[in-house]
Amino acid sequence: MKHDVLDGVFSPKSIAVIGASNTKGKIGYTVVDNLIQSNYQGPVYPINPKDAEIQGFKAYPSILDVPGEIDAAVVVIPAKFVPQVAKECGEKGVKGLLVIASGFSEVGYIDLELQVVEIAQQYGMRVLGPNIVGVLSNSDNCNASFAPGLPLPGKAALGSQSGALLIAMDTASYTRRVGFDKMVSIGNMSDVNFGDMIDWLDQDKNTTCISFYIEGLQDGQNFIRAARSAQKPIIALKAGTSAHGAAAAASHTGSLAGSGKIYTSAFEQAGVVPAADLNNLFDRTQALSLQPPMKGKNLLVITNGGGVGVLATDAAERSGLPLHFAPADLQAGLKKHMPSFGSAKNPVDMTGMAGKEWYQDSVQFALAHDWVDGLAVLYCETAMTAPLEIAKGIKAAIEAVGAHQKPVAVSFVGGKDSQTAMRWLVEAGIPAYDAPDTAVDALAALHEYAESKKTSAAKFEPFVDVHEATAREIIAQVRAEGRTGMTEIESKNIFKAYGLPVADTRLATSEEEAVQLAENIGYPIVMKIMSPDILHKSDAGGVKVNVNGETAVREAYRTILANAKEYKAEADIRGIVVQEMAPWATEVILGSINDPTFGPTLMFGLGGIFVEILKDVTFRVAPVSPEQSIKMLDDIKGAPILKGARGEEPRDRVALSEVLSRYSQMIVDLGDEVNESDANPVLVYAEGEGVIVVDARVILKEA
Ligand code: ADP
Ligand code: MG
Repeated sequence: MKHDVLDGVFSPKSIAVIGASNTKGKIGYTVVDNLIQSNYQGPVYPINPKDAEIQGFKAYPSILDVPGEIDAAVVVIPAKFVPQVAKECGEKGVKGLLVIASGFSEVGYIDLELQVVEIAQQYGMRVLGPNIVGVLSNSDNCNASFAPGLPLPGKAALGSQSGALLIAMDTASYTRRVGFDKMVSIGNMSDVNFGDMIDWLDQDKNTTCISFYIEGLQDGQNFIRAARSAQKPIIALKAGTSAHGAAAAASHTGSLAGSGKIYTSAFEQAGVVPAADLNNLFDRTQALSLQPPMKGKNLLVITNGGGVGVLATDAAERSGLPLHFAPADLQAGLKKHMPSFGSAKNPVDMTGMAGKEWYQDSVQFALAHDWVDGLAVLYCETAMTAPLEIAKGIKAAIEAVGAHQKPVAVSFVGGKDSQTAMRWLVEAGIPAYDAPDTAVDALAALHEYAESKKTSAAKFEPFVDVHEATAREIIAQVRAEGRTGMTEIESKNIFKAYGLPVADTRLATSEEEAVQLAENIGYPIVMKIMSPDILHKSDAGGVKVNVNGETAVREAYRTILANAKEYKAEADIRGIVVQEMAPWATEVILGSINDPTFGPTLMFGLGGIFVEILKDVTFRVAPVSPEQSIKMLDDIKGAPILKGARGEEPRDRVALSEVLSRYSQMIVDLGDEVNESDANPVLVYAEGEGVIVVDARVILKEA
């Protein structure tokens, strides 16, 4: 991957400020001043047609007049002049345009923004923004922004879609004790996006953790690709969830897909650790930037007070890392560093008498023990012990075992001295938090990271026994009729081409034929209306199940036709579908939508009221491997039903996960044609007995 051009955006060695000013209060003044204040070492070229000198630097009327090379041009002029300036920057060989100027797509001037990007592309430049605060980099001594100053130095990098929030986080980094090397305001994302940031930062030696505030991604697939291949932890706070034209969606899936749910799954698929809110983003960033991943589930809590131990225990359960009793030899070893009335079980309570030595010895012994995957060290300030001493003991212990083998998070509850001790710890690379819950959540984040990295790495192996051409032929026939809604039979034939098990389904165009087909299939049978104009057949009185015998078939035939005509007089009725009646089983629903951000997206849920009322469904960006789709089955609240709750036999989860995976391949392959689809219901039988799709619906994209 070539990063030299992006270097000019994220780590520029020379900077021009277009629209630089000598007038305090103007952004063009602040940016130059910030470069001076941050002790920027590279050449600074203020561009201004009126002034010969700006804040001590020689100024130039145009960037083309500058003698030296320029990596980045920070643009702080009115929007309408930006295209012209972009051209000049291109001529000059600038690598990155940092467009602070606003007045582009965010206020409806989309064309102006596109124009700038087109010009940049002609010259091989990259555009950050427009509508940004700028770029801040501690390792470059570079504050190329109008934010007040560089953030607290550290190893995290922040990308933010909100400029105001970036400024707030910049100043808050000091009070929150979360260090950042870089802060990048990404603005309108006309060109440089989060995926580019991941690619670049993953190679950057000054970054250990990538942290994002995201309002919306444009190219979700690229984001997932970049995140999956990253070797560093990525944490993201997603703000804003919008309905996806829910009401207009013809299938269930469309109306169930809020973008929030899809982002959550996409993050998980990409190995991105989620942040629940702004505090959580800070706290988790601190942990992920300082500590190694937590590779197993065994969390040990060491404390000097019962209360914080109990709080940590509760938090551990909430975070999906419930505490287990420490094994006997670990307990025996820990017992040596506490009075007889202490407890070595987990949480380990050394009692209020614990001073530096006990902390140091316990932490060291615990970290060296194989059973321990992660360690929360908690301390309640006491009159007899000095927080800073305790902190030093913890650090010494971690160093003795070899830092960065296993993660440690600390929480000191107390006054000023505790705060000082925690500041000292963070500077030593050990995350420390005001509350025990937060320390536990920090470890949970390190565990989530390790886990999601495992699943996101799993590759999708396409099924080879699929017939895309057959599916495309069916689609072409439907297109030829000028339709987008496919009938049940057409939809099922597409499903069949992807190896999905569908109920044997035939079309009868007369009562006689219906009887014939029914007798061939064998009673009981199911009969349904077939009309491209009736997508929800039951609503039209168009479904009869358990039809048994010739008389019943004839009667059902007539009733269904009459019902359908009454429902929609002008409906184009193609006949009546006759199909095998599948024995009752657990009903589930599979579906797909074409998400505007992520593309073909798979949905899974339990059928009936579970999906209608409880909306108990889960999503994955397609494709998903069978191993990944098994996780979808575990995701929903109704998961125990498939596992065999209350004496029921466990359902065939293996067969179902293969069906999900095949389905996901189908919607990716046919993603250019299919807008949404569902298999509702799919009947799931007992383990080893498979599944069967009894209803299918595919809706094509508008031509
Ligand atoms: P629609 O969703 O268009 O109303 P369906 O084909 O899903 O029509 O039929 C409605 C219901 O009838 C299904 O939810 C299912 O419970 C039942 N059903 C449909 N086809 C079959 C079948 N082949 N075997 C067993 N039950 C069926
Ligand atoms: Mg149905």
